[in-house]
Amino acid sequence: MLIDTDLTGLPVLVVGPPGLTTSVVRRHERAGAVVTLASGPGDVTQEVCNRVRLAVLVGPAAGWASVRDALAGRCPVVDAPVPAAPRGRVVLVGAGPGGLDLLTLAGVRALAEADVVLTDRLAEVGDVARLAPGAEVVDVGKRPGHHAVPQGEIERIMVERARAGLTVVRLKGGDPYVFGRGGEEVEAAVEAGLPVTVVPGISSAVGVPGSAGIPVTHRGVSHVVTVVSGHVPLEEEQAQALVALGGTVVVLMGMHNLVPLTTALARAGLAADTPAAVVERGFTPDQRSIVGTLTTLPDLAVRGGASSPSVIVVGEVVRRSAVWARRVGADADGIAMDGVA
Ligand code: SAH
Repeated sequence: MLIDTDLTGLPVLVVGPPGLTTSVVRRHERAGAVVTLASGPGDVTQEVCNRVRLAVLVGPAAGWASVRDALAGRCPVVDAPVPAAPRGRVVLVGAGPGGLDLLTLAGVRALAEADVVLTDRLAEVGDVARLAPGAEVVDVGKRPGHHAVPQGEIERIMVERARAGLTVVRLKGGDPYVFGRGGEEVEAAVEAGLPVTVVPGISSAVGVPGSAGIPVTHRGVSHVVTVVSGHVPLEEEQAQALVALGGTVVVLMGMHNLVPLTTALARAGLAADTPAAVVERGFTPDQRSIVGTLTTLPDLAVRGGASSPSVIVVGEVVRRSAVWARRVGADADGIAMDGVA
């Protein structure tokens, strides 16, 4: 339930047993109301009744006769029935790579309805707060000098808040299900008996190469794209399977393993002059691409000081890109600085 009316400054009394009123209070506060909370009939004093301009009786409070009598004739009284527990829910929202510009409309709507947002996207906490006014924004992500909240703890917070009747949005980079532990979080919500939905996001695996003008598939060039994690080096058999499959290889989380990755592909028979690229910090003002070949890319990346987050793309599709066309000197120096191509 979203409150569309602007209640700025309106003194509102919310009456109801503890635990049932949290989300009603939050929604009225989000609409600008100044909320007084009464958890039992004894809290509804004369002074309170004189002051408030609207009273909301939540769940069983609608049947508290002494409260109705005390409020009679003083202000409008609204009943807010409580649906059967659990009332809370979990929504996993993919934020896309980079800033929040690539959120879907469904994601924007989920944020607008959120009571709590658990976010990894530290740089944009202010933007999150703007899209989720009134929600508590909890930062559970990584940043230098700050340890990420462990996965189990994130799931515990998510379940606990939703069980308390709140709409919890878990905002995740890219798509929740692409190397994002979205599956585990959905399982945790399901095990807790909570309704859970997933709003997909644009994955960096496709969106970030695209932002540099690299099409991950191209008619007549590549009709296969394989997305792999570079978190650990490729096993020999995996590299052989990838090369046998052909097409485009997209590696996420692979910058610290760029040398073993390219070496494994070369050893598995991929041509040394296969075009390859690193696209760094996609969709940010610092976006940059480094293009070269399977052989030259690791060295170019070191010279260019490339770091995470970056997407590595290997395959003939790189030759079709704007950054390839703009590269500076074919073999000598494949570094192409670019904005969003
Ligand atoms: N769920 C995310 C991926 C999480 S794994 C998604 O669908 O995009 C994190 C990895 O994603 C990073 O190591 C990097 O390889 C990639 N990545 C995410 N955002 C990026 C960005 N803006 N620019 C480049 N790479 C990015």
